Amino acid sequence: QRKPSLEYLNRMGATGGKIPLGLKRKGLRVVVTGGAGFVGSHLVDRLMARGDTVIVVDNFFTGRKENVMHHFGNPNFELIRHDVVEPILLEVDQIYHLACPASPVHYKFNPVKTIISFSYFFYFKILLLFLEMECLCSLTQCVYKTNVVGTLNMLGLAKRVGARFLLTSTSEVYGDPLQHPQVETYWGNVNPIGVRSCYDEGKRTAETLAMDYHRGANVEVRIARIFNTYGPRMCIDDGRVVSNFVAQALRKEPLTVYGDGKQTRSFQFVSDLVEGLMRLMEGEHVGPFNLGNPGEFTMLELAKVVQETIDPNANIEFRPNTEDDPHKRKPDITKAKELLGWEPKVSLRQGLPLMVKDFRQRVFGDQKEGSS
Ligand code: NAD
Ligand code: UDP
Ligand code: UDP
Repeated sequence: QRKPSLEYLNRMGATGGKIPLGLKRKGLRVVVTGGAGFVGSHLVDRLMARGDTVIVVDNFFTGRKENVMHHFGNPNFELIRHDVVEPILLEVDQIYHLACPASPVHYKFNPVKTIISFSYFFYFKILLLFLEMECLCSLTQCVYKTNVVGTLNMLGLAKRVGARFLLTSTSEVYGDPLQHPQVETYWGNVNPIGVRSCYDEGKRTAETLAMDYHRGANVEVRIARIFNTYGPRMCIDDGRVVSNFVAQALRKEPLTVYGDGKQTRSFQFVSDLVEGLMRLMEGEHVGPFNLGNPGEFTMLELAKVVQETIDPNANIEFRPNTEDDPHKRKPDITKAKELLGWEPKVSLRQGLPLMVKDFRQRVFGDQKEGSS
């Protein structure tokens, strides 16, 4: 691994050529792009708590002001409404680059879903199909552009000011993996022209850009490959499986299991992820590092845990699966354990009730429970 640049060490006030484990250090200027989103807002809370000056850059595409509102008025906090696709000038020490819509419903579209039946509403459905396609074009372009041009801009910023840059990449870079569990050395099995490609390939390109800036421009980069994460502040209706099941169970709607429900995912609680991201940023290793919880569940098993946690009588309804859905996913986290001293602490059965508490309040207002 490369040594951190002298400029970076000076900024960090490091002595003896060693980067101090900065989880307790105070006074850094940190940018969090996508800081008004689900993961970003939890990261912002941790950075603020340790005394950093935090600048959130977010265009509110999927994020919400409510997620960071509790920091308004704090002189160490700033919120800038900005699309990272446009250049921006800031003076900072660290850049956590999270800006990117992360839910599949925000970046993919299944034409099968809108197969035109010879129903009464034939023409109406054709109209809907065109509207959805129009919507798809702008969204996929937006996601790919955000991943590529947005990451390029943030790397340009890191290069100019000598800041350390952390990219939140994804387990989706492994596509529908032929290796299980997935190790960082696996190059993946990704469809370059499918409905998920704008996200998968966008993140793969973002990783390429980060490594090019690292090798070519000496930028201090860190790459995290994040596996499915859940927790309070997730968008209620963003279509991801944990948020869908929890919201459905609370609303007494059937849990929608796509396909046969035997596909697997490994679910990580958001506080574990934030701890991993901070350790990665502060550590000496570029990565990429898998950050995920190796506890693997089929979607039917997940539905069962949700039933146990919220409503044992919740029904399950099967729906057709979406295109290019990865069959299984589970992180090998040996590398993060060895080099970052990190591993997740919160199991699905422990974390889910914490998310339910938050969802209950947002679905029903404040009538049911106190604040989380
Ligand atoms: P999120 O959608 O809640 O947050 C993304 C944030 O980025 C939102 O606040 C959104 O408004 C903002 N944003 C989007 N496009 C932007 C743009 N062009 N300019 C400025 N801001 C923009 O998603 P999240 O779950 O918090 O994910 C955060 C990061 O982690 C993403 O990069 C995502 O790809 C990655 N990730 C998340 C998961 C997960 O399970 N949550 C898994 C793998 C990777
Ligand atoms: N950039 C930015 N903020 C900065 C420095 C650069 O947004 O403080 C953008 C810049 O506009 C460019 C991108 O980052 O589009 C890459 O910058 P770099 O200097 O690496 O490349 P160049 O501008 O030379 O193509
Ligand atoms: N899924 C499901 N029901 C839902 C939403 C998703 O069964 O209501 C499935 C989906 O087909 C996939 C898994 O859950 O197999 C995870 O989907 P999600 O969109 O949460 O994340 P990703 O596909 O990006 O891992």
